[in-house]
Amino acid sequence: MPADYHTHTPLCRHAEGEPEDYIDAALAAGVTEYGISDHAPQIPEPFDDWRMAVDELPDYFQWIERARKQAAGKIPIRCGLECDWLTGCEPWIADLAARHDWDYLIGSVHYLGDWDFDNPKWLGRWAECDVDAVWTHYWETYAKMADSGLFDILGHPDLVKKFSHVPAGDLDRFYEPVIDAIAASGSVIELNTAGWHKPCGEAYPTPRFLELACSAGIGLVISSDSHAPNEVARDFPKAIALAKAAGYRETILFERRQRRTEALV
Ligand code: ZN
Ligand code: FE
Ligand code: ZN
Ligand code: FE
Repeated sequence: MPADYHTHTPLCRHAEGEPEDYIDAALAAGVTEYGISDHAPQIPEPFDDWRMAVDELPDYFQWIERARKQAAGKIPIRCGLECDWLTGCEPWIADLAARHDWDYLIGSVHYLGDWDFDNPKWLGRWAECDVDAVWTHYWETYAKMADSGLFDILGHPDLVKKFSHVPAGDLDRFYEPVIDAIAASGSVIELNTAGWHKPCGEAYPTPRFLELACSAGIGLVISSDSHAPNEVARDFPKAIALAKAAGYRETILFERRQRRTEALV
C-alpha cells in the first residue's frame, strides 16, 4: 500500500485520536510510510479556529515522536505540514520551511480572499456566488501556488467542488492552464480520498484531471487526509485503481524534501 502523507492531529482542533491509534491503523493498513501534515500555523494569530498556533509547534514534534515510537521502526514516520496558500504568504512559508527539517510541505488552497470556502460554517455564502467566477478564482489561485515552487505536494486539487458546486460544460477550460503550471513547477499532486466522504462524493481530483496530470508527467501521492484513526489509508485500494486507470504506475516518496519513486501496487 502506498504511503499516506496527508494526515492530521488534534492540535488543529478538528481532528481526534492518539498518535498510537493512528500508527496502529497505518500498520494494519500496510502503508509503506506514514506522514503527518497537520494544518500549519498562520500569522497574524489568531488566524482562524482550525489550526495549531506557532507556539504549539513543539507539541506537534512531540506528537510525531510518540508516533515514531509506536511505529518502532516498522515503517518510516515522516514529518510535514499542510500549509495554506494565501495572498502574500511566501515569506511566512519560507519561515516555516526553515523552522524544521521537514520531509515535505503540502500546499493547499482553502481560502479565496477571506473566505475559507470549504468550511461548512460558511455554506450559505455559496448560494450567493457565481460558481463559474469562484472556479476561475480558485484555479488561478491554485496555479499561483504551483508557480511559487514552495511545496513538494499540492493538496486536494479540486477541493472547490466539495459541496457539489460545479460549473456547466467542459471543465478542461479550468484544468488545462493549471496542469501546465503544476507540470512546470515540478510539484506533485495528491489523490485525496476524503472527497469520497463529502457531498461531492468523488475523490480530489476528478478522474479527468488525474488523466491530464498523468499525461503531463506530474507525480502523484495517494492520501487520506485523515482527521481520525479510522480514516487512515481509507479507500486506498479504490484510489490505486483510479490512479492506474488514469495511467499512473508509480507514486512518490519524500524524505527531507528529496524524492524517490515507488511502484503503485
Ligand atoms: Zn483539517
Ligand atoms: Fe486541506
Ligand atoms: Zn488536509
Ligand atoms: Fe487536511
